Amino acid sequence: MSESIGIHPSVSPAKAAIQIRGACPHDCPDTCALVTTVESGVAVRVAGNPDHLHTQGVLCNKVSRYTERTYHPQRLQYPQRRVGPKGSGQFERVTWDEALDDIAQRLGAIAARNPEAILPYSYAGTMGLVQSESIAARFFHQLGASLLDRTICSTAGAEALGWTLGGKVGMKVEFFAEAKLIVIWGSNSITSNLHFWRQAQIAKRAGAKLVCIDPRRSETAEKCHEHIQLQPGTDAALALALMHELIVNDWLDHEYIARHTLGWEALRERALRWTPERAASVCGIAVEQIRALARDYGTTRPAAIRLNYGMQRVRGGGNAVRAVACLPALTGAWRHRAGGVLLSSSGQFPVRKTALQRTDLLAGRTPRTINMVTIGDDLLRESSEQFGPKIEALVVYNSNPLAVAPESSKVAAGFGRDDLFTVVLEHFQTDTADYADYLLPATTQLEHWDVHLSYGHTDVLLNRPAIAPVGQSKPNTQIFRELAQRMGLDAAIYADDDETLCRKAFSDAIDFNELLDKGWATLPIADAPFATGDFPTPSGKCEFFSEGLARLGVDGLPDHLPNYETAGSSTRYPLAMISPPARNFLNSTFVNVDSIRAMEREPILEMNAADAAARGLASGAVVRVFNDRGDYHCKLEISERARPGVVHGLGVWWRKFGLNGTNVNELTSQRLTDIGRAPVFYDCLVQVQAA
Ligand code: SF4
Repeated sequence: MSESIGIHPSVSPAKAAIQIRGACPHDCPDTCALVTTVESGVAVRVAGNPDHLHTQGVLCNKVSRYTERTYHPQRLQYPQRRVGPKGSGQFERVTWDEALDDIAQRLGAIAARNPEAILPYSYAGTMGLVQSESIAARFFHQLGASLLDRTICSTAGAEALGWTLGGKVGMKVEFFAEAKLIVIWGSNSITSNLHFWRQAQIAKRAGAKLVCIDPRRSETAEKCHEHIQLQPGTDAALALALMHELIVNDWLDHEYIARHTLGWEALRERALRWTPERAASVCGIAVEQIRALARDYGTTRPAAIRLNYGMQRVRGGGNAVRAVACLPALTGAWRHRAGGVLLSSSGQFPVRKTALQRTDLLAGRTPRTINMVTIGDDLLRESSEQFGPKIEALVVYNSNPLAVAPESSKVAAGFGRDDLFTVVLEHFQTDTADYADYLLPATTQLEHWDVHLSYGHTDVLLNRPAIAPVGQSKPNTQIFRELAQRMGLDAAIYADDDETLCRKAFSDAIDFNELLDKGWATLPIADAPFATGDFPTPSGKCEFFSEGLARLGVDGLPDHLPNYETAGSSTRYPLAMISPPARNFLNSTFVNVDSIRAMEREPILEMNAADAAARGLASGAVVRVFNDRGDYHCKLEISERARPGVVHGLGVWWRKFGLNGTNVNELTSQRLTDIGRAPVFYDCLVQVQAA
């Protein structure tokens, strides 16, 4: 990199400081533009870029402390090899050559027998297109390793949106500021979508009404005009009852429905079965709340829905997203740029995945696919005709499955297998890293190139390295390049350097010079993309009825599917538990940053006063939360955030910071959603007693 490239205009020669533009890599819809101030090769400050429309100079609490995380005294700085029992976290320092030579030899031996016995395990530890699945994907594709179904967060909602609107498409976030009604559905935006919340605040000051739909009285819910505190997993029932009211009161845009939707008559018939009384009973809310929301939604223009992934973490999560995504077409909300729905914008980015990931390297092979949600069960399976070979090697990067995957006692048992060879690429010694045979230090976002799409706005962002790698850490890409070279894989496939990969990610669909000059580039997307239909579905319409789903043998219309573990269905486990993120954590990232963990203090369970009184529990008590899957000990917080019968185990703490060495995922199940094969973290019954 030449010295002048990427330096922000506000360079201060007097302080010998330079400012480098980057992008936040974390699993958050906001994808902020960063400016890192570097003095004498040391990053001294990470701030939001004031020139970027969506960031406007503001970062969340977590990333504004990024230098603390980058230079954390426990940052992994050199490769290590296990010396103690699996899971003990005891390692010795080795050289890169020692580590990579041995890993290459052991993976090579397994690949020679059956490459499908090797499994990559990765997710959104970085959202960067280069440091996630570029060289890593080429490596595993060329080997013919098992494929990983990356379902752990969003696929229920994402696929449901695809079956309804044609993809991860929707409103532009900036136009929420112009809406007159904003429904925030399944999202604690103050915690997990801060820059959207700013748009909602602008709308609120201009007179818009804000309604929050969430089982938890979250920080966001308490700042909205109305909070609809429904039972977990009942969102589809509410959406269908809203449709019922739109129909019986004729708050419909008949012309929009006739021209731009598919399956209206069938949906109408389904919705008319969902009276507000029926839905109120299922959702555990007042009939009048449903009627009032329907009236607001049916009579306010423009009306916008910010949907988030919280509500799809239950058995019927896909159907629920489909039901909500149908609403704007019924009222014609899409006609206005401040009307419609936004769950994810990521489907609008013209990413050249094939060029980055080189699926052609599979060369006609079709390796089996392992769902990352069921890693607990799958690591414990023997070889069989149905399953294929037993998993013999696991390469984990950008993920911490011991903490984040469901039913973690099984995940721990699987990772604890003595006959499993595990390599972990990480910044810190996480719960998963404790189980590694080799632990390899990876660079952070301040130390490598990357390029990003967003799932909350429509800008591509470039991330330049601001500092040299800390210690001996290397970018993920480089670690896989060096492994490939040692394993004798075709060198030409790994020749692209990281800046070249950034260029290839969008090819000529994005002006790379604009990214280099400015740090981001805005996609040319219409302000009101579905004002006249043109949905990217097979029919070009909003598909109330999906032929594609019907062909798969499932209901082509959205419906309410009760939870697997429905509230009230068990006397042993009478409480429904959800596990939304603690305000200052992002999945399991940041848990080990001292100043951030201090804000969260300790793992807690929020419980309503009536439920606590019935169990003789007081705030601050250590409680045992349990079901047939496991036990989790944490502190009780009697809280008005919880409705009676529902508790909140805030996550995702590392197990090693837990009071009994577990976290909330000890209790969650490996069952899957109706659409998208995704986890059902919020579909979980428990009991609570004093520990
Ligand atoms: S985590 Fe989200 S809000 Fe925080 S800096 Fe990153 S993108 Fe912005």
